[in-house]
Amino acid sequence: MHAIVVTEPGGPDALRYRRMPDPVAGPGEVLVRTRAIGVNYRDVYVRRGEYPAELPVPGLEGAGEVVAVGEGAEVAVGDRVAWAYGKASYAELVAVPADQCVPVPDGIDWQVAGGALLQGMTAHYLLESVYRPAPEEPVLIHAGAGGMGQLLVQWAAARGAKVITTVSTDEKEKLAREAGAWHVLRYGDDLAGQVRELTDGEGVHAVYDGVGAATFEASLASLRPRGTLALFGSASGRVPPFDLQRLAELGSLLVTRPVLPHFVRTRAEVLWRANEVFGALSDNVLRVRFGGTYALSEAEQAHRAIESRTTTGSLVLLPD
Ligand code: NDP
Repeated sequence: MHAIVVTEPGGPDALRYRRMPDPVAGPGEVLVRTRAIGVNYRDVYVRRGEYPAELPVPGLEGAGEVVAVGEGAEVAVGDRVAWAYGKASYAELVAVPADQCVPVPDGIDWQVAGGALLQGMTAHYLLESVYRPAPEEPVLIHAGAGGMGQLLVQWAAARGAKVITTVSTDEKEKLAREAGAWHVLRYGDDLAGQVRELTDGEGVHAVYDGVGAATFEASLASLRPRGTLALFGSASGRVPPFDLQRLAELGSLLVTRPVLPHFVRTRAEVLWRANEVFGALSDNVLRVRFGGTYALSEAEQAHRAIESRTTTGSLVLLPD
């Protein structure tokens, strides 16, 4: 098979398209021929060597047809499956833990199943299990035109929250408005002051921050007392060490740093979140906008695009 291989962590050119031995489905695994593979910002951190255990083949998510079944896996050859938390997914063949595979319903195409499930399930756990905004509550979601951002804005707005979001360009502002944002702001420009003005001086109930270092302080300053900061990513860099005493001074704030694996710990949880995402897609509550579709061999270009901050929406690789 062909796969993307990183032998030496580094820039986007570290992603090499190579022939590799076909993987084998071990006990509890299924072998899947991929039809679509999601590109996530986390894959950038992996390529740079921040999670060395996951190399040489990067990639967490994808979708395709089952071609072989390992011992004890309750999936059949020919099933259409997708996974959000697998491994070595930038490949034509992937061995996936069967308990992370979900059936892809009719009406959900490969690109959406393989390119947006991880972001959809992340939006689900953030809005359902980390902080669930009530109708009319103001919340702040950073990078509202990104892959995660558009899904979070759409879902929070559909639940009645008043979504304030940030973007860096006019084009992104338009997309964030289409996703249902109540107000779209730019980073800088006394962001927290603007958020307070929009919320009668109170601040928001929750901030969903996948940008990290560049926005962390403004996120804290945008919260009302006892507000929640869900720091779910670090596209601009990691947040430096932090003195917890400041949370008291800022208003008994709650700060959490959640990651997907801790929210898909049981089979029931995997199926619940995936089915809610597929349901929201079928009902048009969520609409996936792809910011780029690339051949598997073009993974390098996909990484250049997402890191250049010019992409809008989800990115996907399609095997040749
Ligand atoms: P995006 O499509 O959102 O791309 C990142 C966006 O972040 C950019 O488009 C840009 O939007 C914004 N950004 C702000 N500052 C920078 C910077 N210095 N460099 C690059 N981008 C910047 O990516 P994803 O949707 O894949 O991921 C978004 C975040 O969510 C990432 O941090 C990712 O790690 C995290 N994530 C976390 C998960 C979890 O379980 N914890 C699961 C999935 C994703 P703009 O130009 O408008 O600012």
